[in-house]
Amino acid sequence: MNRTHTVNAGACESVALAGTTDGLEQLRTLVDAVLDTVSASAIKHDGPITAGGPSAAIAAVRDVMRGDGFLTDAPGPDRVSELFEVYAAWAADLTHPAAVSRMQCAPTPAAAAAELLAAILNQSLHSWESGPFALELERRLISEMAGWVGYGEMASGTLTPGGSISNLVGLLLSRDHILTGAADSDISQSGLVGSAVRPRILCSAAAHFSIARSAGFLGLGRDSVVKVPTDDMGRMIPGEACRLLDGFAADEVPIALVATAGTTDHGSFDPLPELAALAAERRIWLHVDAAYGIGALFSKDLASLLDGLAEADSIAFDLHKFGWTPASSSILLVRDQARLSPLAQQAVYLNPPDDEAEGYTALLGTSMQTTRRSDALKIVASLLSLGRKGMGDWVDACHSKARYAAARIDQDPNLELLAEPVLSTVIFRCLTSEEIEDEGAWNAAIRRRLMAEGRALLARTKVRRQDGETRVHLKLVFLNPATTPEEIDALLDDVVAAAAEVKDAMRTQVRQS
Ligand SMILES: *Cc1c(COP(=O)(O)O)cnc(C)c1O
Repeated sequence: MNRTHTVNAGACESVALAGTTDGLEQLRTLVDAVLDTVSASAIKHDGPITAGGPSAAIAAVRDVMRGDGFLTDAPGPDRVSELFEVYAAWAADLTHPAAVSRMQCAPTPAAAAAELLAAILNQSLHSWESGPFALELERRLISEMAGWVGYGEMASGTLTPGGSISNLVGLLLSRDHILTGAADSDISQSGLVGSAVRPRILCSAAAHFSIARSAGFLGLGRDSVVKVPTDDMGRMIPGEACRLLDGFAADEVPIALVATAGTTDHGSFDPLPELAALAAERRIWLHVDAAYGIGALFSKDLASLLDGLAEADSIAFDLHKFGWTPASSSILLVRDQARLSPLAQQAVYLNPPDDEAEGYTALLGTSMQTTRRSDALKIVASLLSLGRKGMGDWVDACHSKARYAAARIDQDPNLELLAEPVLSTVIFRCLTSEEIEDEGAWNAAIRRRLMAEGRALLARTKVRRQDGETRVHLKLVFLNPATTPEEIDALLDDVVAAAAEVKDAMRTQVRQS
């Protein structure tokens, strides 16, 4: 065969990839523009989000499309800067003191810069040559974090795209470990169909929804999750877990006991020492969901909340919540690296055994992913910029914001505090002495009004009160260590003001109908 192929040099002249001289030139201009845009939009906002609600956000995206879509016939840098401007203008400003709705932190500058470096160099962790330093860095980070939680030399783990996925991976490992033991055959090979057992996952009624979703994804079914009752603070009652286990039929096999360290609402910690003892006695895999609660580890005052953590078979935690790195920064640790075996993978084109024997190993076999970005870079950069004391001080600062807000709510006759904060969340509701038909709907509408007008971002939830009633409550999540008491006062004053406005609006509606 005699084939010729002419390279189209003309088209290639315009190529400027991010890491090249020309590309870096473009990038420098774009980065300057990004920084200017973010600082301009932060100044412009007087609230944490642009006013206008969902319809205005839809219109903003439509404007950026300009009728011809993103695969435009008129491409160019102006279109890109316009996109950046609108994106920044519409971003929830996580540095704003009234942005207290989500477990979503503003990241450290070091972590944000690391993300840029990671994007330019675009390393991957699935083969040695796709990122030799990046993968060694992740290995070292995993072993350092294993040390934080009290694990020994045998520990291992993986970074994942979020706490929900870390929980999924933890439960996948427990499923395969326990059911392979019970069935005497490799479950990840043979599958669950025709299995003689009914797998069960125990978690508290306050556990994160990703536990039940994982059970669905893993072929166990959401119905396999047994919800253990909690106390008023959303903490699992170990005696109830015992009682439920005792009631299992012979074919019901508990594959995991999931303890939550830092529940999404109260920030409560299930009693880890008691649950670890129970798991050991019954030979159940203990998985700890510390997605949010890991922050306690960095604080001298709060660290004891995590006593018993080292007894867990697997631990999931996020640093994109209490850790000030951008999403995704999530970790799944296992006490014994052999438990990662269900993730093992050989691929002739990625990790042939003779390459591995020469030390050319990578992280394909510890993850669900193939191509995988280096999340370790931003985490390490952020830790190196803050240090242990910095992390601890920031966690303590957020905890003290929550306590300040709680005390302030407790004194306000218009507001009712549900409970003392454990970590950095505060749950409360607006009270009224007047007749209001649906108090839950009123509280929900207060939150929506503040959001639509761009004044404040609060969370809402439904929790059981001490009187046994489950009601809509509002929730503040403090992850900004710089927020001042005056700013918290102003935020709560605005909530009270909005409560009165919504009441007026509801009254007008009633009169008109
Ligand atoms: C946030 C949270 C999760 C989910 O983590 P993502 O990173 O958002 O996927 C899981 N469990 C708890 C307790 C959480 O607070």
